[in-house]
Amino acid sequence: MTGTSTQRTVIIGGGYSGLMTAVNIARLSKNPMQVSVINTGRPAGRGVAYGTRRPEHLLNVAARNMSAFPDLPDHFVQWLRTRSDFDRMPDQELKERFIPRMIFGDYLKSLGHHYLSTPSMAGVTTTFVEGEAVGVRPLTGGGAEVQLADGRSVGADRVVLACGNEAPAPLPGVDALTGHAGWVANPWEAWHDKLPGDDGTIILLGTGLTTVDAIITLRALGWLGRIHAVSRHGWLPESHFRGREYTDFPPAGVKVEELGLKRLRALMEEHCQKLREMGANPAIVVDKMRPHTQHVWSAFTVEERLEFARRDAARWNILRHRIAPEIHAQVTNAQLMGQLQVHAATIQGLEPEGDRIRVVLDGAEDLHGDLVINATGPQTRFSATRSGLLQRLMADGLIVPDEMDMGVRVAPDHTALLADGQRSPLLLAMGPLLRGTLWETIAVPELRGQARRVAETLTDAPVAPAEDLSALVEFII
Ligand SMILES: Cc1cc2nc3c(=O)[nH]c(=O)nc-3n(C[C@H](O)[C@H](O)[C@H](O)COP(=O)(O)OP(=O)(O)OC[C@H]3O[C@@H](n4cnc5c(N)ncnc54)[C@H](O)[C@@H]3O)c2cc1C
Repeated sequence: MTGTSTQRTVIIGGGYSGLMTAVNIARLSKNPMQVSVINTGRPAGRGVAYGTRRPEHLLNVAARNMSAFPDLPDHFVQWLRTRSDFDRMPDQELKERFIPRMIFGDYLKSLGHHYLSTPSMAGVTTTFVEGEAVGVRPLTGGGAEVQLADGRSVGADRVVLACGNEAPAPLPGVDALTGHAGWVANPWEAWHDKLPGDDGTIILLGTGLTTVDAIITLRALGWLGRIHAVSRHGWLPESHFRGREYTDFPPAGVKVEELGLKRLRALMEEHCQKLREMGANPAIVVDKMRPHTQHVWSAFTVEERLEFARRDAARWNILRHRIAPEIHAQVTNAQLMGQLQVHAATIQGLEPEGDRIRVVLDGAEDLHGDLVINATGPQTRFSATRSGLLQRLMADGLIVPDEMDMGVRVAPDHTALLADGQRSPLLLAMGPLLRGTLWETIAVPELRGQARRVAETLTDAPVAPAEDLSALVEFII
């Protein structure tokens, strides 16, 4: 692919972030470009979240907030209207629906087909390459070669890292479980054919959204055995709700990004308490922070960010990453029926016990499971990433961890910053890789803006104003 003046962009990762970056390049570029999307492991164009084939896995964001485009807020709802199962649903009902994630994956696929299957008017061509990128080798004279695990390579002038979430961090004792039939290291692999009988026990390590997915699937499969879920705090995600209008937060004239962590925490606690006294859900305060979160995070000192991550993040995540009410009702029902037991304890280690696995806990009695699923969530220490590609890019000095060691250091236009603070001539990064820089960077409402911003950087398109995310809050009845 060398010897051409057409700009060559390689996007590593073909989930939502990678696909929508390619779509935005096709929409925005005024010049011919060659775009290659390299993807492995998950269905191209769908990624981890929307590659599920299980209809019981619902979006955890209402349809009205799931447009793939920041400039077309109703796009997903309008697309749903093209389907016979949604075309007659009253507008308000459709907008508030939590749609199956695989249907959102169909939406993404249809966007890929519409924008990428033929060259754009300006001559942007997009190719999907199935394979794992393992390195980026800069070439003398400019550009680079993106190397694939199978020995192939793709030429690039710019490379976008859209690799998504990290795999879960390894747990102590996990090496002894290699090949054990009762161990599921990756919760997204098909474990449904490994289920024990209804007198068996399944242990879910973690109590977040992945664990909720597993519980819902076990119920959809009609499995009647015992389920244990364990995490340090033992908190399951909370439900979305239709709350009340609350205009007191942020108080008029207060710039939340100027408060610093201690004063902001005190202010939020004060308003949560006020809401509780009114009989309303305190999560309204977290919702109302959504348009400000990235600004607040970037205004925090590194010490404040570290303190927030240590002291506040778990509670924040529970209130922030809520689930569809119907999913929440099922999880609550599993608890009430005694099928599901949740434990607040630290996982000390895992040990094989013949066909079973022992989960050694600190803070609760050890558990013994026929099937143990690692749903502990992505590893957050970036320098310990298990991605061979990212390790190599760091070793080669092509990217550096951000100050929090949660992801890649980038400039506001997504260009990677090198150790000396210079802009990388080659690499850009987006999505969950920006957690240390932005904190709020994993859900579609933020990612759609990023996909557009990355495309603007690559095509030199004028920068569109950032989307007003205050429309996302859901407290108004
Ligand atoms: C179960 C689940 C449910 C979710 N539900 C919602 C929801 O309802 N609403 C919402 O807004 N957000 C949701 N999210 C958040 C979700 O992370 C984002 O919406 C979005 O899917 C992230 O997309 P991504 O492309 O950044 O990452 P991913 O979807 O993880 O895609 C990254 C892709 O890159 C590939 N890749 C990585 N490294 C390489 C490499 N070296 N070479 C080649 N390919 C590589 C991976 O295999 C993967 O296919 C959910 C997340 C999960 C995990």
